[in-house]
This record gives sequence, C-alpha cells and structure tokens, in this order.
Amino acid sequence: MKLFGTMEINSEGHLEIGGCDSVSLASEYGTPLYIVDEKNIRNRCRIYKESFTSESLQTEVIYASKAFLNIAMCKLIANEGLSLDVVSGGELYTAIKADFPRQKIYFHGNNKLESELYMAVENNVGRIIIDNVNEFKVLSTITKNIGAKVEVLLRVNPGIEAYTHEYISTTKSDSKFGESIFADGIYDFIKEINDDPNISFKGLHSHIGSQIFEEGSFLEQATVMLKFIKSLNNKIGVQVNELNLGGGFGIYYTESDDPIDLPSFFERLLSEIDEQSNLLGIIPPKVLIEPGRSIVANAGTTLYKVGSTKTTYSGKNYVFVDGSMADNIRPALYGAKHEFCLANRMNDKAEKDFAITGKCCESGDILGKSFKLAKPNRGDLVAVSSTGAYNYSMASNYNRLTKPAVVFVKDGKAKIVVRRETYEDIIKNDVDIEG
Ligand SMILES: *Cc1c(COP(=O)(O)O)cnc(C)c1O
Repeated sequence: MKLFGTMEINSEGHLEIGGCDSVSLASEYGTPLYIVDEKNIRNRCRIYKESFTSESLQTEVIYASKAFLNIAMCKLIANEGLSLDVVSGGELYTAIKADFPRQKIYFHGNNKLESELYMAVENNVGRIIIDNVNEFKVLSTITKNIGAKVEVLLRVNPGIEAYTHEYISTTKSDSKFGESIFADGIYDFIKEINDDPNISFKGLHSHIGSQIFEEGSFLEQATVMLKFIKSLNNKIGVQVNELNLGGGFGIYYTESDDPIDLPSFFERLLSEIDEQSNLLGIIPPKVLIEPGRSIVANAGTTLYKVGSTKTTYSGKNYVFVDGSMADNIRPALYGAKHEFCLANRMNDKAEKDFAITGKCCESGDILGKSFKLAKPNRGDLVAVSSTGAYNYSMASNYNRLTKPAVVFVKDGKAKIVVRRETYEDIIKNDVDIEG
C-alpha cells in the first residue's frame, strides 16, 4: 500500500498516521474508523493556493465540499483561505454553523429547492451557480419578492468528453448538468440573466467530470469556454468576468492512476488562458477551480477490524471486516479500486489474494475484489488508503449500521471531529405508533 502524507510504519510494524499508532487509535476510538491526516489536507490546500496563481490573471480556489464535509473541515478550509462550494441546504447549513465567510460560499446544484435558494439568498452567499432556465426564473422571482440582489454564474455544458466513469462524467451532450453552449436560445437566456435587475451576471461555470488524468481535457475545456465568452461579447455584448472551470483532478488510488503534476499544469493552463484571451481580444476573466477529491482523498484512511475469514469450496479467500459498502460505497457503485494493508502487521509478507468484503447483505458489498495480504487473523486491522473523499459523505445506514467516527490526527494527537453513531441515533427518527 502506498503511504501518503505523514503515514509511516513505526518500530512495532504498525501503520502510523499523523504521529498516531493506528493500533492505539483502533483501541481508543473503535472500528471502523475514518482517520484523517490533517497535515496532508493542509498541504494540498497550500499546493493549490500557491500554484494556482499567475501574474496576469486573478485566480481563486474553491473546495468542493461534497467530497467530505463537517464543521471541523469547514474551519480548516476557512483557515487555509480557500472558498467553499456547497450543493445542498445541508451543506450550506454546515458552512453557516461553522461560520464560514458567506461571501466565499458558492452554491451549486442542478435542482436547488426554493427553500434552498431562499436560504442562500438570505444568507448572502458569494455566488449562486444557476443550472438552468427554469431555476433562473425561480431565483428571479425570489430576489424580486424579497428585494435582494445576488451575484450568479451560469453553469454551461461545453460538450467535452473527459475519459472517466460514466457516473462521474458531467459534460456529455446528454448530461443533466447545466445548459449547453450549443443550445438554441443560450444567447437569449444569458442576455435575460444579464438584464435582470436583481441578478448580477458574473460569469460562467463548467465542470467536466471527476477523477480525470488528461491535461488535454482541461485545456480543451478552457479553450471552448474562452471562445464562448468571445461570442457572448460579440453577439450580445455581455461581459464575462469570471470563468469557473470546476474540479475533477484525478488522484492515486492504485498503481494504474497517474495524477497530473498540478503546479506545472496550472502554470501552463493559466498562461494559455491569458494568451488565448489576448488572441481572442477579450478581457481575461478571473479563473476559478473547485477541487474536492484531490484535496482530501489521500488524506483519509479507513481502519477496520477483521472478523471471520473464509475459503470457499471453489478456493476463493475472503476476509470479512466490520465495515461495508455503508461506509465506502464507491467500489460497489462504480468499481472504484483501493489499496489495503494489515495495519498491525505492516512488515509481514503478503502471500495470497484476498477479497475484502463487508458485513452487508449484498454480494456487491465488496471493498476490494482481490488484494495480496499476509493471511489475516481475527482481530487484525485492515487499513484502506485514499478514502478521504466521497466515503463519509456517501455513507449510509444500510442494514442499520452506525456511521463510523472521524478523527483528525496531527503531531501525535487525535481529535474526534465526528462522533460515532450509536444505536440510539439509528432509531432517533422512528415514531412508535403503538406508544
Ligand atoms: C463534484 C464537483 C466538483 C469536485 O469534483 P472533484 O472530482 O471532487 O474534484 C467541483 N465542482 C462541481 C460543480 C462538482 O459537482
């Protein structure tokens, strides 16, 4: 298993993260446990903040909070000086409760509820990203009714086919997100937004997908968007001040993933945007990006305890852990792959392939189809790396499993940032109709 950030193997042969021995973390906080390497997240934030800059362009980095969000995380992001992208009332509520600077909140979503739009307007968020014509009409009415002014971006679909899993690709022509830049009426629509007295049109947003490794996809996206900006200038005289290119930067899960070197890529991307803007004769827009996964994924490790092991009649070896698809749905949902280790026996030689599976009543409840490990025994600890993104945030209570605790670790200290759910939490919304 590849080690990230502050991960090391200590003198006892245990996996250590943030200076904390994973074996001690398991006995103190229980398993399954999400361990988050705080230094690693801060480091990623700094890499983005420091390298997504240019002398000639204004830039901004927004953390896409759907990857992993809680109050501690909001505070960390605010402390690192990034902005925050939220896509629901629940995410917005978390940001508000963490007192995240309102003007640095970007509100996304393809079907924002009226109640969510009210909440965003009343809390004076920095930008609302309009997804479609219908939503614009609702927002226009809301702002008119309460006499509020809002600043917006429009999400558009530039028709870039980034190579990634179908479920996480977002700009094929039949995608549900945004309005196509090729659609009849797109110019009239943008003019209508621009003319609305309560809505200030600031620019455009597009997000081409997730877990993308080709620099070319992002460069093509930027080029297509700049050309579209030029034609908005020409055809309807609308000025586009902000160009938000979304997130989607791929990360290492297994050896087959080859992440982009961000600092050198950003240098190229920003200089191309500057150059192309000049060639097109448009004022270079402020450029924004919204990484989620690539800020948090490698900083997260899930720790499980081994229960039974089993070899089937046909010879397949299973190791059962005390977590499941309820705390990591990604392998079941889109065949995502992870690396594994025995956290209490890091120096033992891997011998055999094991299928690492959870305790849910689904054959699809597989965390790893086949991974080489030393033979696990009951009570050993299995660690799964790169589970910081889209794991806790996608967790469910399937089979009435309780959601694990989340600890931040740093400099030998661990702090709980999300408590483990209890059985009482599981039934707290049940209404006993007999009593
Ligand atoms: C999901 C999402 C992101 C972040 O994507 P990552 O792959 O996690 O970087 C950014 N912007 C929008 C609009 C998104 O939906």
